[in-house]
Amino acid sequence: MAEPTPIFQRMAVIGLGLIGGSMAAAVRQNRLAGTVVAFDRRYEDALLGQELGVIDEAAASIADAVTGADLVVVAVPVRATESVLAEIKPHLAPGTLLTDVGSTKASFVGAVESVFGELGANIIPGHPIAGSEKSGVAAANPALFAQHKVILTPGEGTDPVKLDWLTRLWEGCGATVLTMSVAYHDEVLAATSHLPHLIAFSLVDTLAGEDQNMDIFRYAAGGFRDFTRIAASDPVMWHDIFLSNRDAVLRVIDHFSRDLDQLRTAIANQDSATLLTVFSRAKAAREHFSKMLSGQAYVTDMSQNQVTFHLKPGGRMVGDIRVPGDKSISHRSIMLGALADGVTEVNGFLEGEDSLATLQAFRDMGVTIEGPDNGYVRIYGVGIDGLQAPRGPLYLGNSGTAMRLFSGLLAAQPFDSELTGDESLSKRPMGRVADPLKAMGAVIETAEAGRPPLKIRGGQALTGIHYEMPVASAQVKSCLLLAGLYSEGATSVTEPAPTRDHTERMLEGFGYHVHRNGAVSSVSGGGRLTATAIDVPADISSAAFFLVAASIAPDSDLTLRHVGMNPTRVGVITILRLMGADIEVSNEREVGGEPVADLRVRSANLKGIDIPEDQVPLAIDEFPVLFIAAACAEGETILRGAEELRVKESDRIQVMADGLEALGVRTTVTPDGIVIPGGQTIGGGSVDSHGDHRIAMSFAVASLRAVGDIVINDCANVATSFPGFVELARSTGIQISAEGI
Ligand code: NAP
Repeated sequence: MAEPTPIFQRMAVIGLGLIGGSMAAAVRQNRLAGTVVAFDRRYEDALLGQELGVIDEAAASIADAVTGADLVVVAVPVRATESVLAEIKPHLAPGTLLTDVGSTKASFVGAVESVFGELGANIIPGHPIAGSEKSGVAAANPALFAQHKVILTPGEGTDPVKLDWLTRLWEGCGATVLTMSVAYHDEVLAATSHLPHLIAFSLVDTLAGEDQNMDIFRYAAGGFRDFTRIAASDPVMWHDIFLSNRDAVLRVIDHFSRDLDQLRTAIANQDSATLLTVFSRAKAAREHFSKMLSGQAYVTDMSQNQVTFHLKPGGRMVGDIRVPGDKSISHRSIMLGALADGVTEVNGFLEGEDSLATLQAFRDMGVTIEGPDNGYVRIYGVGIDGLQAPRGPLYLGNSGTAMRLFSGLLAAQPFDSELTGDESLSKRPMGRVADPLKAMGAVIETAEAGRPPLKIRGGQALTGIHYEMPVASAQVKSCLLLAGLYSEGATSVTEPAPTRDHTERMLEGFGYHVHRNGAVSSVSGGGRLTATAIDVPADISSAAFFLVAASIAPDSDLTLRHVGMNPTRVGVITILRLMGADIEVSNEREVGGEPVADLRVRSANLKGIDIPEDQVPLAIDEFPVLFIAAACAEGETILRGAEELRVKESDRIQVMADGLEALGVRTTVTPDGIVIPGGQTIGGGSVDSHGDHRIAMSFAVASLRAVGDIVINDCANVATSFPGFVELARSTGIQISAEGI
């Protein structure tokens, strides 16, 4: 293979310590520069670097190092930067890229301005978010930056070509590059890095001064050691950092001191409510952050973890259960609760990754939210105009629903915002919401082809529109109705086919009138929402597995409580009843605008049917498990008009047909559906779910009528939509075990 062309001819590192040395070593190892030369104020350190293979050449002076270099990296302690820049200046060739690695950025820009007059086009401040408590070239490690972030803070006049080179250099060292403003960098780092270091130094110093200090350190548990590890960092470097980022650090220390004082008062007053609120809020935030900080897509992250279901054949379904809450309603309960006046209490909240991302985003906009704790969430609404500008981009994980709904809500706020998501969300088109929002007066910038991130400019006055949706989409409709809450006049949306109406129902539940007339829903701006209590209905899509399971397994009698019976979702019940299922609906009532009921299901002899096409959109997510019902029925079941099934999390028609075939069940796949001859024996075998949670759970249900063991691969995503599925299935009669959780 041909050698890659280096990005730079000659890289000069000034200050060959841990960071400069690690960068030099990574650049050499990855052949990103032709020659790497370094100067250090202790020449023997530069020679040591040469001996260790960290650099090609040790320079005896700054002039020797910088002359002829097309890249100069300043890697000295931040307080030494200005004098080093002054020494570099006379030897710097025009066009040479100058960058640094310092932990604070305003100080670097200040030093550049005092030496060069301005942050020129070729000077780009940088900061790798990687390091260790060690220092010096002997600790240099070429892998230090792999899978870490590097922040660049280019100025307005930065040469984009140079920025691209520097970005590629860091990426070549294995890092991910982010850009942000100098001020934002310093604020964020003051909070996430500088304050924790200060607390660690201070805590260890305080404890070392206590009388029993030896015992404290001797008996210190792992938690103390982890928490105070950073107190072993280089004192000189941290002294420099605190002094050079003084203002941002003082702000965050003041904030922390106030909060610490509040905890002190709570302890003194035996105020357990405050303590529990603060601790549970912190716990939830920590869990959310650790997922975000792992930098992984939620779903990809989970599916990297291989989970396999093992099923024994046979069993009967008995019990009285409640399946997890509906995802769409969980999402909306947080959104509207946050915007309402008063405190909204939510029970049965689905603690899935998507709804947790929504919850965190509202916390980032100043809303106090307690929980979730076993499905209970308490939201202290800030009122329709009470959201505050988030400090940074709002990260919405994998949730397309959240991104589309948020775009409507944020388009109308007085502040700017940015919506980002994981890798897979970043590929989804957002033009379908951005375009009609722009027609209302919103200012939204998307990445290429309408993809995230979405940059939303605040302070726009929106005007209501009448929008005819080209494609039926509950997300687009909801987005526009949310923007409509803030718009002048009426906003109405016409849908070409019925879509889920959870937003309209929940707005009514919060006392906001939605005018509905056939295919048109409209709201008038300027109203307010009133807090309410929401008992999130159990998700009918999750209940569907148990409806089919109890129908096909002999001698079953299973009750499902509090199931959402939204008319746009109940197709699975209608279809199963047409097949002869014995489903008794009782205790019908309405919560937060949504109809719910208890369902009792007993075994029945199902028969095959021609599925009415008008039921297809009302049962679209439930077909995988309905195919299992069809395989167990007497006679043939025919599905038509369901092409949409092919573009879900997997091609659900083909993947189900393949899985059934692996278990010895014949089917005929058609372009828009499937024909399943019933009454066939379901054998044992191995099925691939293709990472599709509904396929995995459907084949778990099939085991009730199988004659052999079934193994289902790639089941990690089940936990996203149905936390606790394995335990609930087992407790009601499915002989399931999971491996790899
Ligand atoms: P380090 O290991 O102490 O390296 C700094 C090197 O620069 C030392 O060899 C030092 O020599 C040399 N030096 C000091 N003043 C100099 C001068 N006037 N001219 C030439 N060389 C000079 O420190 P580091 O951890 O690599 O930190 C370097 C920079 O990276 C700092 O700005 C720091 O804020 C930033 N940073 C550090 C970390 C981290 O975790 N360590 C992470 C991200 C960014 P002596 O040994 O003689 O002092």
